[in-house]
Amino acid sequence: MKITIIGTGYVGLVTGACLAELGNDVFCLDVDQRKIDLLNSGGIPIHEPGLEEVVARNRAAGRIQFSTDVAASVAHGEVQFIAVGTPPDEDGSADLQYVLAAARNIGQHMTGFKVIVDKSTVPVGTGDRVRAALQDELTARGVAGQASFSVVSNPEFLKEGAAVEDFMRPDRIVIGHDSTADGHKAAALMKKLYAPFNRNHERTFWMDVRSAEFTKYAANSMLATRISFMNELANLADRVGVDIEAVRHGIGSDPRIGHSFLYAGAGYGGSCFPKDVQALERTARQYDQDLLILRAVEAVNDKQKLVLGQKVIKRFGEDLSGQHFAIWGLAFKPNTDDMREAPSRVLVRQLLDAGATVAVYDPVAMAEAKRVLALDLSPAELARVRFADSATDTLGGATALVIVTEWKAFRSPDFDKIKAALRHAVIFDGRNLFEPQVMAEAGVEYHGIGRSILT
Ligand code: NAD
Repeated sequence: MKITIIGTGYVGLVTGACLAELGNDVFCLDVDQRKIDLLNSGGIPIHEPGLEEVVARNRAAGRIQFSTDVAASVAHGEVQFIAVGTPPDEDGSADLQYVLAAARNIGQHMTGFKVIVDKSTVPVGTGDRVRAALQDELTARGVAGQASFSVVSNPEFLKEGAAVEDFMRPDRIVIGHDSTADGHKAAALMKKLYAPFNRNHERTFWMDVRSAEFTKYAANSMLATRISFMNELANLADRVGVDIEAVRHGIGSDPRIGHSFLYAGAGYGGSCFPKDVQALERTARQYDQDLLILRAVEAVNDKQKLVLGQKVIKRFGEDLSGQHFAIWGLAFKPNTDDMREAPSRVLVRQLLDAGATVAVYDPVAMAEAKRVLALDLSPAELARVRFADSATDTLGGATALVIVTEWKAFRSPDFDKIKAALRHAVIFDGRNLFEPQVMAEAGVEYHGIGRSILT
């Protein structure tokens, strides 16, 4: 099938590459000329395992193209995916300007019948707004009778760091369509497009557009709730002498609870959970409802991002001038270079504010870290951050080590080397990578999250 993807970011590029891999003829559009030039020269703008190979293979086979040409992109795909960003606006609700601009672009150029698929995460009712924006353009062109379309909601559930794998092997595919004749025609095309994913068993859940839009927010809000719930319990565990990891095993083995997303840590970040929790709260407010649980989820997370830095300050004092800290992990989670809303940014700010200097390292996010920290910090503050060449390179002369992201490469370090390099054999672990007992035996003073077991 001929497919257009509007927006070539994490979701758009992965969607485009994976649909090309299945044999479709994919046109990827973006407004960012530099991104398109990079892709056309064989580069990849993001770090995502396996993506580079899939893109390269399909470019070579002529199944995927990258362009900024709007008219050509509209002409190409019978199915037009909108996969542009929906960042929070000032009050936390989703900013739909990019989604609506994409819709208007389609309306300005389309002929015949098109399926408009909203893959971006958008609030309930956005399908109606996309439909209205497109219809206005058709009316303005005087072609409303000759061109027709149907708006479908197909939220994306991929995880950064495992995006290609998630897209290729989805747990479920959610498709919302309306019950008009065009809605059914659109559903039939979506069914054909997604048929390869449903070969073993049916993974598609068909519903109305609003329910599909809501499903995405409900999923992310539930996952964020589990994290904040465990973080809040972990902070109590620290006070009462309980090991939150033991508790995690103890409750996760109950199949009604399950093991996923029960890890206490330094707080969730990334481009999705923080903004989606906020956006659902704002939607509720527009309908005069206060989502108490989600407000708490957000507040707990904001506090949790401070916990690691507070532990450092509690141990080494409020005035950290003259102290230097090694920081391992900057991306908001492993296997990505994404630093949007990353807890590491809060930690760096806290330590610098307390007067310390830091040496930071991340296996893939160093370029992104340089870009992002230059925005977060003043030049004088930035001068107190050293971007190290390796994890080991951060350690020399540091007061202590602080781990923020659970990269695999940080899981089995040489503790003797760490101890020899640090001024104090102290590790603050924001991801609970190690066992307190093992650390005690290794002669390391260990501060995890919710692991202050009374002995
Ligand atoms: P992103 O910022 O990585 O990419 C968005 C791209 O859209 C950018 O390259 C931008 O230049 C482009 N763009 C903006 N306006 C455009 C226009 N009018 N025409 C063409 N291109 C345009 O965003 P993302 O992380 O891919 O997220 C996209 C959407 O998917 C968001 O709604 C997000 O919430 C949702 N989502 C993201 C993830 C994730 O893990 N990143 C997962 C599921 C859903």
